[in-house]
Amino acid sequence: MCGIAGTINVPLASETIRMMLHALQNRGQEAAGIVSIDGIKKHEYRLKGTVNEFPQEELDALVGSIAIGHNRYPTATNSDGPKNMQPFLMTVDNEPIAIAHNGNFTNIPTLKAQDLTGVPFVSESDTEVFFRLLLRAWRKDLLEKSIIDTLAKMQGSCTAIITLPGRLVAIRDSTGNRPLVWGRCGDGYAIASESSALDAIGVLQWQEVKPGTMVSFTTDGSVITSKEFGDGKLRLCPFEWVYFAQITSNIFGIPVSDIREAFGRELAKEDVLEADLVLGIPDSGTLSATGYGEASSTGTFAPHAIMRRHNTGRTFIKSGQAKRERGVADKFGFATDKIAGKRVVVVDDSLVRGTTSRKITEELRARGATQVHWRIPSPPVIGPCHYGIATKTGELLAADHTVDQMREYIDADSLEFLSLDRFKEVIERHGVSASDCCFACMDGNYWTKD
Ligand code: AMP
Repeated sequence: MCGIAGTINVPLASETIRMMLHALQNRGQEAAGIVSIDGIKKHEYRLKGTVNEFPQEELDALVGSIAIGHNRYPTATNSDGPKNMQPFLMTVDNEPIAIAHNGNFTNIPTLKAQDLTGVPFVSESDTEVFFRLLLRAWRKDLLEKSIIDTLAKMQGSCTAIITLPGRLVAIRDSTGNRPLVWGRCGDGYAIASESSALDAIGVLQWQEVKPGTMVSFTTDGSVITSKEFGDGKLRLCPFEWVYFAQITSNIFGIPVSDIREAFGRELAKEDVLEADLVLGIPDSGTLSATGYGEASSTGTFAPHAIMRRHNTGRTFIKSGQAKRERGVADKFGFATDKIAGKRVVVVDDSLVRGTTSRKITEELRARGATQVHWRIPSPPVIGPCHYGIATKTGELLAADHTVDQMREYIDADSLEFLSLDRFKEVIERHGVSASDCCFACMDGNYWTKD
């Protein structure tokens, strides 16, 4: 998963991008980068870490009224080397062209095998392959068409922001798998992966880049939306609602906070558990815990019995299991007085590898919890995501464990998930058809061939 942002005709374009990337930190913390365009001059800066670690003088040097930015969360490759950091930048006909991409292309090995240029790839990134194909298809008089034609060769998931001479384009593939929104920002425009990033810069009116369209924003102020391309089959990613997106965002037309609470409420509906305390794993489990706590008679909701230290980052994004386990211990604080002697129910948004839940069960028992029950308001993740989330075969607990074996692994007294059917019902109640979503990681129905 990654976060992307772009802006045109906005004074202090790169400072605006910095603010948006900061607001999109939930989508990746491995690396951040900004490219700004000033006429035909380009400026670029990327680092391993987050955008707020940019030295001020580097940020100040990113001049120009067009800028794009990227928060990286390694998906196509685990390598966090500098060559994989985005935005990517190339020069064509003496003009700088830069791209920031979110999503994952799945037919990269096939496309790489077809690349007969003999020029070695400089990164391991799928985005470079797309970029290279784009430059090959380059028609100076038909740039937008070159991009749409190139995207047609790709399989998988793509939202991207690309700088072209005198303009900025935002493109979302016809599956709509990842979100992308834009709005008017002063005399210019801003584009971002999530509405909360636009909100952060005061852009309160926004709209989606519709699936299968490209929107071009020119320096003279016009906005041109392309005709729809692709087959029109939507594959919206529900994990955006479950975990990825900011709770203040509206994703695919649904406020994230509403649907997260609803997933929790749904989970409570048929639960007959008796316990004393309901805890939510902050931050992504808190809203579902609120919903669960409201709808069940299971116990008192104690939102602050587990707190999260905010400067430690997201544990899942850390590469390596040992690092992740240390990360969990580093990340959470526990109100021992509240927990001791209690039967607790813990709600987290999802259970993937079981690292978080196993460690937290251990910490709760060490603090005197007499029972630890886990409730997960999303279905088990049984397969990897090929479309932009770094879940891999071999690491997924639900891939080769029954629910009871998972319960045993995390050392819980009980474990329940929201079933896929009920998960879909909640989505439908919020106005999105389940047939427009991708459930590949939950039901194994992948929609790409390669
Ligand atoms: P795990 O500890 O491996 O079971 O992962 C579950 C925890 O990681 C939950 O607390 C989620 O909030 C979070 N999480 C779930 N999916 C992802 C993901 N794809 N990337 C990063 N974190 C995730």
